[in-house]
Formats: sequence, C-alpha cells, structure tokens
Amino acid sequence: AANNLIVFISHPLFDFEGKYLGYIGGSLYLKEKNILNELLEQHYYKGGSYLYVVSSNKRILYHPEPARIGNVIANNSVIDAVVSGEMGTSTVINSLSKPMLAGYAPVTLSNWGIVAQRPLKSTLSSLDTLTIEVVKQTIPMALVTFIFIGLFAHFIARPLKRLADNANTLDDPSSLEKLKNVKSWYFESQKLKLAMLREVALLQAQIGVLRHDSQTDPLTDTHNRRSLNGLLNQLTLKQTPFAILEIDIDFFKRVNDTFGHDKGDETLVSLTNIIKKLSRRDDIVSRIGGEEFVLVLPNENSQSAFKIAERLRKTVESTEMDTIGNITISIGIATWPVHSTDIAQVYKCADKALYHAKEHGRNQCVVADIS
Ligand code: GH3
Ligand code: MG
Ligand code: MG
Repeated sequence: AANNLIVFISHPLFDFEGKYLGYIGGSLYLKEKNILNELLEQHYYKGGSYLYVVSSNKRILYHPEPARIGNVIANNSVIDAVVSGEMGTSTVINSLSKPMLAGYAPVTLSNWGIVAQRPLKSTLSSLDTLTIEVVKQTIPMALVTFIFIGLFAHFIARPLKRLADNANTLDDPSSLEKLKNVKSWYFESQKLKLAMLREVALLQAQIGVLRHDSQTDPLTDTHNRRSLNGLLNQLTLKQTPFAILEIDIDFFKRVNDTFGHDKGDETLVSLTNIIKKLSRRDDIVSRIGGEEFVLVLPNENSQSAFKIAERLRKTVESTEMDTIGNITISIGIATWPVHSTDIAQVYKCADKALYHAKEHGRNQCVVADIS
C-alpha cells in the first residue's frame, strides 16, 4: 500500500481426513525490521563480509544495505547461478567494483538464493601475512645455510687450489715440501695429494739422474768438461782464486796396445781413484778427454799447487796397478787470475806447461810461465 516490499508466505491447512480447510499466510515487510533480517544480521560480519538473499526473479530480499532491498539484479553470474538452483563458489566484482569471493546456495523450498561475499583482499590478507611470516622465519636459516655452503665450498676448494698451484711447478725442488704442507683434509684431496707426491718424487729423481748424467763422465764418475766449465765460472764469479792441474798419462797408447782397451779403461779408473783420494772436499776432479784429467784446487797459488801436483805424481809413479804395473803422469799447472783472468787462457797456459813437461822427459810437473 505504502510502496512496501513484502514477501507473502502461505501454507495450506487440511483436517484429519485430508479435507482442505483453507490456508494460513503471513507477510514479511522486507524494508522494515523483520524476522528475516533479524536472523541474518546475527550472521558474523568480519573483514567486510556480508550475505544477501535473492528471490527466484533475482530481486534482493535481504541485503545489509536496506536501500538495495527490492532491487532486481541482472547480469550477475552468481545470482544467475543460484536462482537456477546451483550451489558453489566464485570470484565476482560487486556493485562497488570490489573483487569479492562469493559462496552461494539455493533455498529450494522457496526458490530463494543466499549469497555470502567476502572481499578477496581480506580473504587473502591473512595469506599475505602468513607468507611474510614464512619468509621472515626462513631468511635467517637460509642465510646461515648459504654462509655454511660458502664456507664449506671454500674449505673443499682450498686444498685443490693449492695442489693445482703446485702442479705448475713440479720441477721446482721446493715443490715436494710445499706439497707436503698442503692440508688435504678429505679423502679425495688426500689421494690426489699422495698421487702428486709420488709423481713429484719420481720426476725429481729423474731430473736428478739426468742432471748427474749431463754433468758426469760415465767411466770415472767425475765431472765432465761441461760441468767443469760451470764450476770454474762460479769460482770466478765468487772471485775465488784457483789452480788448474792438467794431468796426462805418459805413453798411455802403449798400455792400450799392450793390455787392450779394457785394461786401459781400468787404468783410467784406478788413476781417478788416486786423484780423488789425494784431493780435498772443495777440489774439482774432472776427466776432460781420453786420458786427460783436470784437477782444480781452489785457493791455491802456483807454489802450493806444484807441491800437491808433485805429491800426486809420486803417488801414481809408486802405485802398482793391476796387471799393467806402474804408470807415470805429467802435469801442467796454471792459476787464475795470476796466469790470466780468462779461463780459456789459463787452460792454454796449463796446456803449454804440460807440453813442456812431455818435452823434457815426462813424469814431471811444470808451472806455466807468467807472460
Ligand atoms: P804421451 O801422452 O805421453 O805423449 O803419450 P800417449 O801414448 O799417452 O799419447 P796421447 O796422449 O797422444 O795418446 C792418448 C792415447 O790414450 C790414445 C788412446 O789409445 C788412449 N785413449 C784415449 N782415450 C781413451 C779411453 O777412453 N780409454 C782407453 N783405454 N784409452 C784411451
Ligand atoms: Mg793425451
Ligand atoms: Mg798421454
């Protein structure tokens, strides 16, 4: 009458024999305080959630905003669904353009539909805080884990890096010590280290053999000419004066011719042993040619060198050699830097003195003239 929106509810009445008596009816004034909105307002509203009721013709029967009661809503997928008897959930944009989560269910008895809506944001906000909380809780542990992984990687890599550094300098004599000092604290690096140590030991042993071979006369195991020159250079660099004794066996051809080349070789070894026995630690014994030896005496002048040469000559002369008997030697003597500051010239002087000794009857020592 007064533009009131009402819902009229009726129910038929029958007597005990089933005879229709009439009906009982009641009406709800939708826009006023009534049993429907009183019931529905008890619904718990929180975070902007609310519910509304629509009739089968999509008219709003209940809404928390009274102004909207009575409106017919078209083009709302949730209302369309619920009036056609469906039940479900959906995301919708409400009349205020807010994204909402909606749950809906039909009331089959009256062909109404009930829709409950909640703003998407408030639904998800608890999820957001949960996410932040999870991140907050996780970050320290993640950081600790990363630091731990970093440190662990560092400690694993360190022995490998040090082994690799050493691998570049395996020929360096100090590499064996350096390798031994690498702390290989886990099995694999320890195996690697042991393998490298084996290799280094082998390599350096081979280097040692090659170095010895390249500097040594194989028959007498004395310095060869190359090694002798290197040692003499070192003496001159250190400004250490020295005497050169050039020793040549007298008539050695005869020894070979009489007793054979092998006996000759044995004689060379015997002579070497005599020279070694008479020389001191710093003296250099060298075989520079077939049956020519050089004995270098550091810190000796011509006079003292001559005495040593004489002692050697006499010892050889009086030594009975196996099978061949006695041999004699002639010795030419020159000194650095007195005879010359040039090593080659000192050799030449000693050569001349030796030639002089041979010329004047052999089995004698001659000091070179100072020119
Ligand atoms: P001298 O020096 O007194 O003049 O007479 P020599 O007979 O020793 O003469 P020379 O020094 O010229 O001869 C060297 C001889 O030494 C020639 C060779 O038969 C012998 N000879 C050289 N090298 C070797 C060697 O490695 N082993 C042996 N067994 N003999 C060698
Ligand atoms: Mg000779
Ligand atoms: Mg000779």
